[in-house]
Amino acid sequence: MLKCRKRFDIDMGKPVKFGGFEGILEETTCPLCPPEAIPRLLFKGPDKIGFYHCSNCNIIYVSPRFRKESLSEIYENKDSINSSFYEEWSYDTWKSNKDRSYIVSYQKVMLVKEFLPEGSRVLDVGCATGLFVLEALKHGLRCEGIDPSSILTEIGQKTLKIPLHSGSIGEFSPRYQFKGIMLWDVLEHIPDLMHIIKKCHDLLEPGGFLFLQVPNYKGVSDSCKMYMCRLGLKRSFNFGFPWHIYAFDRRSLSYLMKASKFSPVRFESWSHFLKDNNEGILSRAAMLFKRFCLSDYITCIAKKAA
Ligand SMILES: [Zn+2]
Repeated sequence: MLKCRKRFDIDMGKPVKFGGFEGILEETTCPLCPPEAIPRLLFKGPDKIGFYHCSNCNIIYVSPRFRKESLSEIYENKDSINSSFYEEWSYDTWKSNKDRSYIVSYQKVMLVKEFLPEGSRVLDVGCATGLFVLEALKHGLRCEGIDPSSILTEIGQKTLKIPLHSGSIGEFSPRYQFKGIMLWDVLEHIPDLMHIIKKCHDLLEPGGFLFLQVPNYKGVSDSCKMYMCRLGLKRSFNFGFPWHIYAFDRRSLSYLMKASKFSPVRFESWSHFLKDNNEGILSRAAMLFKRFCLSDYITCIAKKAA
């Protein structure tokens, strides 16, 4: 274990480029533990970005990473959004073709409906163009979405005609609370994790449910890539940096939930290969991995005290 964090020889004050985007980097510590928590350096990429494991809460975090302001600029970059895709888009075609985005949205709606009755008011945080919101509305949930990207929410409002808000969840103040809040593939992007979870806690009714999904570093795929990096056999694995700044497992999610007064009630893992049937070797393997929490993503359902 490292006794002290090593200083980086990257220039922190000047814009640098990663993944085609430019921004200013900052060093960080574990987002869930006091600054004195000692991290373990797992490996450092050829670009000198470090990937650390916190032995206290079990999260993996990236340091240095882009500052919050630089991340906001990256997410509002028009060049990274394919808005022309939605010009010919229709719900019926999406449903009949059953592409991956449909299957994932449909299965997530079915998961939410295991916990909440029809007519429940729910909020999808980080909704992007609102595909989950649309599918939830089609299945009887009173769903709305919020996303910091005005470009994406405008596409959803205009093309899908669904209730989406543009802005930060931290500044969202509706006159009502929700029975369910979704954070699908959101937390790995957010610098201030505790702040967003506490805000979701405030927005939920007593007894309400939080549904979240994040990358699972205990999944077979990420585990293999991580060990190959540590052995020096692979140089390019970066957990999705600069987009992703954290990776989780069941223990780190439990730590996060309990630290924010939620009680975890179920964990699952989800795969890129998830289909709407169990046919084919990949689908069968995906179901097996899901059962043992070995897939690419981990899903947690947690409850606010009644
Ligand atoms: Zn920690």
